[in-house]
Parts: sequence; C-alpha cells; structure tokens
Amino acid sequence: MNNKGILTALAVLAGSAAVAAFATIAPGNDPSPPPAQPLVESLAIDPGQAVLASPASYIREEPFQRGDTLAAFLGRLGVEDEQITRLVRSRTLHALRPGTSVRAEVTEDGALLSLSFLNGRDTLVTVAPEDGGYRARETVAALETRVTMKSSVIRSSLFAASDAADVPDSIAMQLADVFSGDVDFYRDLRKGDRFTVIYEVTWLRGRPVRAGRLLAAEFVNQGRTLRAIRYQSSYYTPEGKNMRKAFLRYPVEFSRVSSGFGLRRHPIFGGWRNHTGIDYAAPIGTRVRAVADGVVEYAGVKGGYGNAVILRHNGQYSTLYGHLSRIAVRRGMRVEQNDTIGFVGQTGWATGPHLHYEFRIAGHARNPASIAMPAGQPVPAQQLPAFEALAQPLVARLDLAASANLALLE
Ligand SMILES: [Zn+2]
Repeated sequence: MNNKGILTALAVLAGSAAVAAFATIAPGNDPSPPPAQPLVESLAIDPGQAVLASPASYIREEPFQRGDTLAAFLGRLGVEDEQITRLVRSRTLHALRPGTSVRAEVTEDGALLSLSFLNGRDTLVTVAPEDGGYRARETVAALETRVTMKSSVIRSSLFAASDAADVPDSIAMQLADVFSGDVDFYRDLRKGDRFTVIYEVTWLRGRPVRAGRLLAAEFVNQGRTLRAIRYQSSYYTPEGKNMRKAFLRYPVEFSRVSSGFGLRRHPIFGGWRNHTGIDYAAPIGTRVRAVADGVVEYAGVKGGYGNAVILRHNGQYSTLYGHLSRIAVRRGMRVEQNDTIGFVGQTGWATGPHLHYEFRIAGHARNPASIAMPAGQPVPAQQLPAFEALAQPLVARLDLAASANLALLE
C-alpha cells in the first residue's frame, strides 16, 4: 500500500471511530451535536503512523512593537532560547522597525525554519538557518494592491470617526489634506458631517500591510457635499476643477494629536468676531505652515504677537502667524504653500498655547472664510476624456455609498 492508501484507510477508520464516539457521548434525546474536543481524544491513532502526526511546524505572525526587545519578540514567535541567543546577533534583525509584521515558521520544538518580514517598500527579507548559522535573503515581495471603500460619520473628531470605520490615519490625513482648500478641519467640522474614502491597500500573503493612495473621497460638511478624484497625483472635482486653492483654509498642520486639542479648550479662545484674527489651539511644537506661496516680510518678536511671521503673497494678500514657540524662516525668504514657517507656542500675550492667524487684504484684516480663493489649474481640455474614464467608476461608487449612508440615517 502506498502512503496515499494508508491515509485513505485511516481516514475511513477515523470516520467510523467518530460515529462510534457520537453514539457513546451523545445521550439519546439531546439534539445538539457533542463538543468536538472529546471526539479528538477518542480517536486512538497508532503513534507509529507518523503520516498523521500533528503538523511539524507552525506559522506565527506578530508585529514587532515599540519597546520590544528582539529576544522577547522572538520568544513570542515561539523560537527556542538557544536560537534566540544566536539570532539577536543578526544584523538583519536589528533593522526591524516597530509596527513591522514578522512571520515565523517554527517547529514544534521551537526550532526556527524561517523568519520573514517586509523591509522598506517592496523587499521581503527572509532569514533561515544554513550551515549552522543563518542566512538572510532579500526578494521582491509579491505585493498585491486592492481598493477599499469606507464611510463614517463625525461625532466628536475626524480621527474618532476614522477609527470607528477602521480607516488608517494616513488616509484620514490625506482626506484632510485634499479638502484643505475648502474646509478648515479645526473649525468647520460639525457633528453629523460624514465622509467616504476609496483608497488602495497593499496586501502581502493574504493580509493588509499598509494603506496606499487615496483615490477618491466625498466629504459632507455642514450639509455641503464635496468630492475629489485623484488624477495624475493631483485631486480634482468630478467636473475636473482643481481641489488645490491658492490659499489653504488653515495654517496649522492637522494631526491626531492637534485635532482634539482645540475642542477641549474651545471657550477660552475668541472667534473671528472678537478680534482681527483666528485662533487655533494646538499643542506647543505643532507645525505651522504657509497658507500660500509668498515671501517672508517679517520674522521676529512683534509686541503682543510674541514670535511672529508675516508673509506677503501675490496681489494684495498677506498673512500673519503669532505666538510661535520657534520661527523657521528668515526675512526675505521665499516660501511655498505648506512649507513650515514655525511652530505653535505661547509667546506674547497668549493665555494658552495657540496660533493667532490673520489674513489681510491691502493691510486690512479679513475673514478668509468669506473670500472665494482662486483654484489651481483644472484638468487640461485634451485630457478630459481620460479623466472622465477614470472618474466615472469612482463617482459611481461614491454615489452608491451616499445612498447607502442616507438609508442608514433614515
Ligand atoms: Zn488671537
């Protein structure tokens, strides 16, 4: 009898044993099937039949975590102590960064057969025993890109909403960035605002390993629906208008840490009506960015503003940034939109850490929310067919999500 024959015969045997076990374990009128565990125990398998022995090795996958020692981590993966002692000397393993998922194949006795992880964007590093030592190999990882769509409703903050829908931070940040010409994510968000994001996720060996590009998004802010489609590394409305405006709506970098900061302190800070600027409560050290291309007109201490920067932009526009903890530019320097010009602080007349931001036209402070900002270049006319071909299925998916979300709300 060949091996396959033995297997089949044993399977039949095992089957009849199972039937017998049912008969003995389950008392007459109990309709529920017996638990699986006793069944397994009742199967007497000849220990001589190695063919049916439990698997010789196990695969475990674990993220290397912040604060992990290499030895403790390898222990968690089931690697035996003696090998751990040798492995911690491996230079390859010292390249492991927190958050990296590591897959290990280990025998029952804890002998390592192989260990692999993704290093950098597309390289799969595999460490395996060889000639009494270990050898690391780098191969191109068989990555697969899938497209995911998720929706969520804002109840307290953008990040709470993205967490609730399992949307990665990097996608939430891209969302805030894409709409940053239209929505002030610090001040304009309202309970009940909602979003849908369509984005790429990279998979390796059947598991998601990281989020990629945001392909399309819908943001409903205070009843106003905004949509963006990614095309050739820029974002456009479904009609082909550029999402990028000459001026960003807010000068403080949006992050998980800073986004909730203002909410807690809200009553301390005045709105537009109370003075000539807008205050952004944010932790000291939060990045302050130029809202538009321009030239540094002033950088230094300026009375009650403390450390301040004034930028002169095209036309009659200028912007002022006050109470900075640190200034990152010098007078006369050219800056581009989104360049770092300083960091949030509490210098000058400030009751707490915040940025005081003024938007001026011909020297007069104005409310930037009330001014229609010029947008970047639209999709060129000759590229419109290509753009529409790309946008149409994405728009269809956003439509689908919008109607599903509305149905949920009703
Ligand atoms: Zn202020």
